[in-house]
Amino acid sequence: MLKIEGINKEYLQRDESRLPVLEGITMEVKEGEIVSLVGPSGCGKSTLLDIIAGLTIPDRGKVWIGEEEVTGKKGKVSYMPQNDLLFPWRTILDNVILPLQLAGLSTNKAREEGRRLLPLFGLEGFAESYPSMLSGGMRQRAALLRTYLIQKDPILLDEPFGRLDALTRAEMQKWLLTIWEKMRRTILLVTHDVEEAIFLSDRIYLLSPRPGRVLKEVIVPLPRPRTERMKTEEDLIEIKRILLEALENKG
Ligand code: ADP
Ligand code: MG
Repeated sequence: MLKIEGINKEYLQRDESRLPVLEGITMEVKEGEIVSLVGPSGCGKSTLLDIIAGLTIPDRGKVWIGEEEVTGKKGKVSYMPQNDLLFPWRTILDNVILPLQLAGLSTNKAREEGRRLLPLFGLEGFAESYPSMLSGGMRQRAALLRTYLIQKDPILLDEPFGRLDALTRAEMQKWLLTIWEKMRRTILLVTHDVEEAIFLSDRIYLLSPRPGRVLKEVIVPLPRPRTERMKTEEDLIEIKRILLEALENKG
């Protein structure tokens, strides 16, 4: 579904020096998979998603979606950038339907479709509320629904639960898996939380500190549907150990 081959990226800094951010990144996400990208802060995770979304051009390497080379092409994926914000002056319903309006749907049709999906995203009864009236978890679900409505696979999520407290975060993880069981969309998710990556994913790519390189690809053998209890199982703890150890030794 998604293939990335030999991506290199350097940023030119203000003092004219070069900052190597990504080095030789090769990875893939198969149809219907949830794959996580884990790595320390500043290792280039957001840069890589920007590259896949066509917003940043790599110095080397290519991005493929299906049979099509999409390097530098926009509009091919559903992307929820880090710190994605809802517009405070739009209602929840009008926030989530934005991609449908951008795709040319009439406001009435878009609202109809948006309303239909609000309950699934735990937002029933909040169509006419404004973002400031909602909890952090609800705002995040609204942002996810907006991303979902872009209707293009893969879905790229950059630290979607990063700013939530631990309990809300755990709730959101379970909820995301429930949605995914129903929809089976293809998801590439960035997180710096190793346990979150294991709980959600079929596979994990572990990136080194900057410049980001793939240190390890780990297959998560936990069966689906996943349950919270699995977070304390040997398998998960063993994978966590492998990932943290690889990060410590940088490979
Ligand atoms: P991560 O998401 O893994 O925390 P980022 O991809 O956001 O990492 O950033 C990687 C590095 O590149 C950081 O050191 C950041 O400061 C730098 N960086 C990101 N965007 C730019 C840019 N547009 N120009 C220059 N440097 C950038
Ligand atoms: Mg980031």
